[in-house]
Amino acid sequence: MTQDWGKRTKLVHHGARRSQYGEVAEAIYLTQGFVYPSAEAAEARFLESGADEFIYARYGNPTVAVFEERIAALEGTEDAFATASGMAAVSGALTAMLRAGDHVVSARALFGSCLYILEEILTRYGVEVTFVDGTDLEQWRAAVRPGTKAVFLESISNPMLEVIDLKSVAEIAHAAGAMVVVDNVFTTPVFSRAVELGADVVIYSATKHIDGQGRALGGVICGTRAFIRKTIEPYMKHTGGALSPFNAWVMLNGLTTIDLRVRAQAATAQTLAEALQGDPRLARVIYPGLADHPQHVIAKAQMDGFGTVMALEVAGGKEAAFKLLNTLKVAVISNNLGDARTIATHPATTTHQRLPDDQKAALGITPGLIRLSIGLEDVADLISDFRAGLEVI
Ligand SMILES: *Cc1c(COP(=O)(O)O)cnc(C)c1O
Repeated sequence: MTQDWGKRTKLVHHGARRSQYGEVAEAIYLTQGFVYPSAEAAEARFLESGADEFIYARYGNPTVAVFEERIAALEGTEDAFATASGMAAVSGALTAMLRAGDHVVSARALFGSCLYILEEILTRYGVEVTFVDGTDLEQWRAAVRPGTKAVFLESISNPMLEVIDLKSVAEIAHAAGAMVVVDNVFTTPVFSRAVELGADVVIYSATKHIDGQGRALGGVICGTRAFIRKTIEPYMKHTGGALSPFNAWVMLNGLTTIDLRVRAQAATAQTLAEALQGDPRLARVIYPGLADHPQHVIAKAQMDGFGTVMALEVAGGKEAAFKLLNTLKVAVISNNLGDARTIATHPATTTHQRLPDDQKAALGITPGLIRLSIGLEDVADLISDFRAGLEVI
């Protein structure tokens, strides 16, 4: 029984389907459709498809199905539905489960596109959304009410790396009859214990750590079999956010090594954060693994590691931050995360550029803030790289 396997074994083998050729590596079924042996067989499949029977790639595909089964086994959910991107997963999950008149409570510190969906799109269709400070349980308690259908949160926020007490928020949500939907990208599937803590739906942008090498877009919604097949599948198959079989194959290969990569990246993040902490040119080093992080204790209790993203607040503002960024030789300036390469981002002028200044300030996105997604390089080279960057400030 593969259920008894450990995480790493599942990541290598779970859900493998082999064709009559017995190929070792997963096959890429790059086909939009499937041939039926007879008209009766086509009729029967449209009436009810079996677990390993496919109709059209927008509905499902053998390569995509292996990826879905493997990520569900890793996350500990009954099922999963793969999507074209992380945003297709977030928008699909929320739109599929909500209707006009429903109420949603969401943490305010969100990835920009998630905020757009909640603030601009759902409200357009008559869903009411209340935003709260995700770290303040009193605000969650005050915001939920009988009509609250869902609460939405990023378990670790972007880019300030605030950690939300998922277990407590889930208790508050469930008492009100609401489902808990978690965008778990920053926690990563490796460190996640979201289901055990009470999450009903766990979403990943596979573009990040699952690919892990900055190549392909993808996403996934993990949940119960009933939720995935009765709520998500009908919505996704008719709206078209399917993951391509080629990208599913890229993601499968990413899953094979994700445990090793993410643990190595988190260990490097911890070492780098400790090495840079206390530097007089830095106002703050933010990493949930540091004892002075405001939610360090919660992070330790609810995750099997502290993640691969950290942030630096340069004391000298934007000018100093740009000087540091322009000096880096190992880390690259970009905006992805979860990549094998260390990536430095200046949120105030890139990912969060469009936020009004007062909202930036409220979220803590100062002109001196630099977000770092730690890669797989030698930690000594990264420490030297950032020390050289600090020297020029
Ligand atoms: C990147 C990201 C997304 C969106 O994923 P895409 O694959 O780029 O669509 C959503 N949420 C979080 C927290 C992310 O980091």
